[in-house]
Amino acid sequence: MREALIILAVIAILLGLTAFKYRKQLAAMLEIWRTIKKLQRAHRNPEQVASASQDSGTLVSCARCRTWVPADRAVRLGKTTTYCSTTCLERAARPA
Ligand SMILES: [Zn+2]
Repeated sequence: MREALIILAVIAILLGLTAFKYRKQLAAMLEIWRTIKKLQRAHRNPEQVASASQDSGTLVSCARCRTWVPADRAVRLGKTTTYCSTTCLERAARPA
Protein backbone atom coordinates (compact mmCIF):
# COMPACT_ATOMS: atom_id res chain seq x y z
CA MET A 1 0.00 0.00 0.00
CA ARG A 2 2.81 2.42 0.87
CA GLU A 3 4.66 1.57 -2.35
CA ALA A 4 1.53 2.35 -4.35
CA LEU A 5 1.30 5.81 -2.74
CA ILE A 6 5.00 6.48 -3.48
CA ILE A 7 4.52 5.39 -7.12
CA LEU A 8 1.46 7.66 -7.42
CA ALA A 9 3.41 10.58 -5.91
CA VAL A 10 6.32 10.02 -8.36
CA ILE A 11 3.88 9.87 -11.29
CA ALA A 12 2.20 13.09 -10.11
CA ILE A 13 5.58 14.85 -9.82
CA LEU A 14 6.62 13.65 -13.31
CA LEU A 15 3.30 14.85 -14.78
CA GLY A 16 3.74 18.20 -13.06
CA LEU A 17 7.30 18.60 -14.36
CA THR A 18 6.23 17.58 -17.88
CA ALA A 19 3.35 20.07 -17.82
CA PHE A 20 5.77 22.77 -16.61
CA LYS A 21 8.34 21.96 -19.32
CA TYR A 22 5.74 22.03 -22.11
CA ARG A 23 3.61 24.87 -20.68
CA LYS A 24 4.06 27.00 -23.82
CA GLN A 25 2.99 24.15 -26.08
CA LEU A 26 0.07 23.40 -23.76
CA ALA A 27 -1.00 27.05 -23.86
CA ALA A 28 -0.74 27.01 -27.66
CA MET A 29 -2.75 23.79 -27.84
CA LEU A 30 -5.40 25.36 -25.62
CA GLU A 31 -5.54 28.39 -27.93
CA ILE A 32 -5.81 26.11 -30.99
CA TRP A 33 -8.64 24.21 -29.30
CA ARG A 34 -10.43 27.49 -28.59
CA THR A 35 -9.87 28.64 -32.17
CA ILE A 36 -11.25 25.35 -33.53
CA LYS A 37 -14.31 25.73 -31.29
CA LYS A 38 -14.72 29.29 -32.58
CA LEU A 39 -14.38 28.11 -36.19
CA GLN A 40 -16.96 25.38 -35.61
CA ARG A 41 -19.33 27.98 -34.18
CA ALA A 42 -18.58 30.25 -37.16
CA HIS A 43 -19.32 27.36 -39.52
CA ARG A 44 -22.70 26.79 -37.88
CA ASN A 45 -23.88 30.41 -38.00
CA PRO A 46 -21.68 32.39 -40.41
CA GLU A 47 -23.93 35.47 -40.43
CA GLN A 48 -23.42 36.11 -36.74
CA VAL A 49 -19.62 35.97 -37.10
CA ALA A 50 -19.62 38.11 -40.24
CA SER A 51 -21.45 40.86 -38.41
CA ALA A 52 -19.20 40.44 -35.38
CA SER A 53 -15.94 40.98 -37.27
CA GLN A 54 -15.31 44.71 -37.48
CA ASP A 55 -12.12 44.62 -39.53
CA SER A 56 -13.24 42.90 -42.75
CA GLY A 57 -11.51 44.36 -45.78
CA THR A 58 -8.18 44.92 -44.03
CA LEU A 59 -5.22 42.63 -44.57
CA VAL A 60 -3.26 40.86 -41.85
CA SER A 61 0.02 38.99 -42.25
CA CYS A 62 0.47 35.36 -41.27
CA ALA A 63 2.72 35.03 -38.20
CA ARG A 64 4.44 32.04 -39.78
CA CYS A 65 4.74 32.43 -43.58
CA ARG A 66 4.11 36.23 -43.76
CA THR A 67 1.39 35.80 -46.39
CA TRP A 68 -1.15 38.63 -46.39
CA VAL A 69 -4.73 37.49 -45.99
CA PRO A 70 -8.05 39.33 -45.45
CA ALA A 71 -8.64 39.82 -41.71
CA ASP A 72 -12.02 38.09 -41.87
CA ARG A 73 -10.43 34.97 -43.37
CA ALA A 74 -7.37 34.85 -41.08
CA VAL A 75 -7.11 32.26 -38.31
CA ARG A 76 -6.62 34.07 -35.03
CA LEU A 77 -4.57 32.95 -32.04
CA GLY A 78 -5.30 35.17 -29.08
CA LYS A 79 -5.97 38.82 -29.89
CA THR A 80 -2.93 39.85 -31.93
CA THR A 81 -1.49 36.75 -33.65
CA THR A 82 -2.99 35.78 -37.00
CA TYR A 83 -2.30 32.94 -39.42
CA CYS A 84 -3.26 32.48 -43.07
CA SER A 85 -4.54 28.94 -42.47
CA THR A 86 -4.96 26.27 -39.80
CA THR A 87 -1.94 24.53 -41.40
CA CYS A 88 0.31 27.49 -40.49
CA LEU A 89 -1.24 27.65 -37.03
CA GLU A 90 -0.51 23.96 -36.46
CA ARG A 91 3.05 24.31 -37.80
CA ALA A 92 3.70 27.32 -35.56
CA ALA A 93 2.42 25.46 -32.50
CA ARG A 94 4.47 22.34 -33.16
CA PRO A 95 7.60 22.26 -30.96
CA ALA A 96 10.81 22.79 -32.92
ZN1 LIG B 1 0.78 31.16 -43.27
